[in-house]
Amino acid sequence: MNDPHVLPPGKLIRLSELSTRGTDYCDDRDRAEAQFFALRDELAEWQHRLYAEGRRKLLVVLQATDAGGKDGAIRHVFRGVNPQGVVVTSFKAPTKVELDHDFLWRVHNAAPGAGMLGVFNRSHYEDVLVVRVDRLAPEEVWQARYEQINQFEKLLHDTGTTLLKFFLHISHEEQRERFQARVKDPSKNWKFSHEDLVKRRQWDAYQEAYDDMLNHCNTPWAPWRVIPADHKWYRNYAICRALVETFREMNPQYPPALPELSEVEVD
Ligand code: AMP
Ligand code: MG
Repeated sequence: MNDPHVLPPGKLIRLSELSTRGTDYCDDRDRAEAQFFALRDELAEWQHRLYAEGRRKLLVVLQATDAGGKDGAIRHVFRGVNPQGVVVTSFKAPTKVELDHDFLWRVHNAAPGAGMLGVFNRSHYEDVLVVRVDRLAPEEVWQARYEQINQFEKLLHDTGTTLLKFFLHISHEEQRERFQARVKDPSKNWKFSHEDLVKRRQWDAYQEAYDDMLNHCNTPWAPWRVIPADHKWYRNYAICRALVETFREMNPQYPPALPELSEVEVD
C-alpha cells in the first residue's frame, strides 16, 4: 500500500497546506479502530521477530508541537510489544555534560542496538527547532545541522537501521483544546506547564522551523511522514499502519535451528 503521508522526495511542502484532519483520509472511525487493533497485534508479532533475529534495528522518531500527541501515540501504538526489545528515549533540554559535546552525541548513544526497536520522543530535530526559535545557537550553527543530521541518519541507515520519522500535525485550534483540557482535568494537570503558553505564542516561528526541517531532511534513506493528528484514532492507525508496512518489507525472520537440533534429546 502506498502511504499517503510520506513526503515525496525533492518536492517542497508547507505544513499549512497539509491537512491536520484524519477524517480527510478516512471517514469511518469504527473501521479505522478495528484495523488499528489488528495492526497492533501484527506489530507485536513483528517486533518479536526483529528481536529474535537480533541483527537489524528499527528507529521511530516522533516530532510534534506541544500537545501534538507524541506521548499518546507511544502509549497506544506500542501497547502490545515486548518491553525487553523496545527502548523509548525522551529528549529533554540537554544537560551540562550533553552541551559539552556535539548535538548528536546523546542521540547516537540512544540509537537502537541489534534486534531493538527504538522510539525517540523528540530527537536531534529539537536542535533545529527550539534551538532556532529560542535562539539558543547562532544561525550558522543550526543551519549546518540539517546536513549533519542527513549524514548521521545515512550512517544509521547504512549500518542496519531502518528509520521511520513521524511529524504529528495538529491545528492551532486543536492545540488550544488540548491545553485547555490539561488545565481543567486534574488527571492532566501534570502535563501542563506555563512554558507551553510561551511556545504557543511562538506558533508561527515553529511552523516555519518545521517546514524547513521537513524540507531539508526528507532524504531517500530517512523520509518524513506528516500524520494528520487532530483525531487521535486516525493518528494511531496511520502510525501503526506505517510501522507494520515497514516491518512487512523488512520481513525479520526467526534464526534457523541449530544443526541436528531434531536429534537432540533433553534429559
Ligand atoms: P516534554 O517533551 O514536554 O517533556 O518537554 C521537553 C522539553 O525539552 C521541551 O520543551 C523541548 O523543547 C526541550 N528540549 C528537548 N531537546 C532540546 C534541545 N536539544 N535543546 C533545548 N531544549 C530541548
Ligand atoms: Mg510538554
